[in-house]
Amino acid sequence: TKAAFKQIKATDDDVKAFLALNEEAALDQAAKLDQAGIDPDQPLAGIPLAVKDNIVTKGLTTTAASKILANFKPVYDATVVEKLLAAGAINVGKTNLDEFAMGSSTENSAFQTTRNPWDLTRVPGGSSGGSAAAVAAGDVLGALGTDTGGSIRQPASFNGVVGMKPTYGRVSRWGVIAFASSFDQVGWLSQSVKDNAYLMEAIAGADKRDMTSANREVPNYVANLAKADVKGLRIAVPKEYFGDGIDADVQEVVEAALAYYESLGAIVDEVSLPHTKYGIPAYYILASSEASSNLQRYDGIRYGFRANDVKNLEDVYVRTRTEGFGPEVKRRIMLGTFSLSAGSYDAYFAKAAKVRRLITDDFNKILKDHDVIMGPTAVSTAFKIGAEVTDPTKMYMNDLLTVTTNMAGLPGMSVPAGFSKENGMPVGLQIIGKAFDEQTVYDAGYVFE
Ligand code: GLN
Repeated sequence: TKAAFKQIKATDDDVKAFLALNEEAALDQAAKLDQAGIDPDQPLAGIPLAVKDNIVTKGLTTTAASKILANFKPVYDATVVEKLLAAGAINVGKTNLDEFAMGSSTENSAFQTTRNPWDLTRVPGGSSGGSAAAVAAGDVLGALGTDTGGSIRQPASFNGVVGMKPTYGRVSRWGVIAFASSFDQVGWLSQSVKDNAYLMEAIAGADKRDMTSANREVPNYVANLAKADVKGLRIAVPKEYFGDGIDADVQEVVEAALAYYESLGAIVDEVSLPHTKYGIPAYYILASSEASSNLQRYDGIRYGFRANDVKNLEDVYVRTRTEGFGPEVKRRIMLGTFSLSAGSYDAYFAKAAKVRRLITDDFNKILKDHDVIMGPTAVSTAFKIGAEVTDPTKMYMNDLLTVTTNMAGLPGMSVPAGFSKENGMPVGLQIIGKAFDEQTVYDAGYVFE
């Protein structure tokens, strides 16, 4: 834990991954663990981790990188945090994100811009950019993130780390600040696949406080990894994940990774996921609709920020939300409110919901006779700070290869597969699995260790 804070102090003035540090409490907890000695029931004893700042932590500010929650100190821990602490892990601090997890570069934070540790002129991706950068900078061994449309996998790809988004329902969302509840899932980033499996083992499982969490047994991911073998693994490679819109340097690394699997005895099959191209428009309608509803609670009465010198109740609402939310959050609220309004519901929300069904059917058809789906995680490597933030539709295209997984609720992981020949930046390989079959995803990713 001391080493973690030392590294944070050495790197974070440049990287700016952290919004809040938990130094005193963390060192205290570490000292207590030292005194108590090794407890076999605490597999993560003394492991320094970081937590994305849209996951609530008791007594430690939780802002979702929004002015509307500045200085908000929760009175309880999210289930995922509770579980990590129970396993002995140490929370060193809270990491930066795009405001309310809306974005793909962490430039939408109300407080600071996180930089990619591989190249400080580039973004770390988003929205879990702070978590990914903290792991890549060597500050922590792992970090919690959330993934609604790619927010763990794309930053993992941009930072050369491992990022897992589990199956919808695999992990409790209790205490996670809601963005789009039918897509949101907590996941984690780490330096290796094995570390990632350790985190999953500690965090996954049913929670009676989240009725969407699934009552399924949690496998011994780490022990099972030892038996991992990709011989005979049936890998589906969607043709829609290559070609136009995906940078050539990314494709090159991913094609080499697939050839490597083939050389190890895996069976690589080209397939089609024909509705992939409708993923982005449908996701942004559905996720924004859910967000417009979830964000109604920030009214200046119950949480965080309230505008000054207000005249009446309506003024409280309007001025608090006008001053408290940033431009991207407002854009999503307007888009979502419009899609749900009586005059446009059928043309937008209902239609997007039908597209979601088609996308899910595409996946399930392919996964009937394949173990995993593989392709690039992101369409490019980490881009330059400022390059896309003024053009929302360009920014939205970053999620082309990740949003569909959330729409279908499937598990997806990004593993570092190599480096771009063009700019030397890391490139991630995405591995998508069957629902609740994270084990096979880990087994497949383990070949890169
Ligand atoms: N970039 C996507 C968005 O802005 C996904 C975000 C996420 O997964 N939280 O909605």
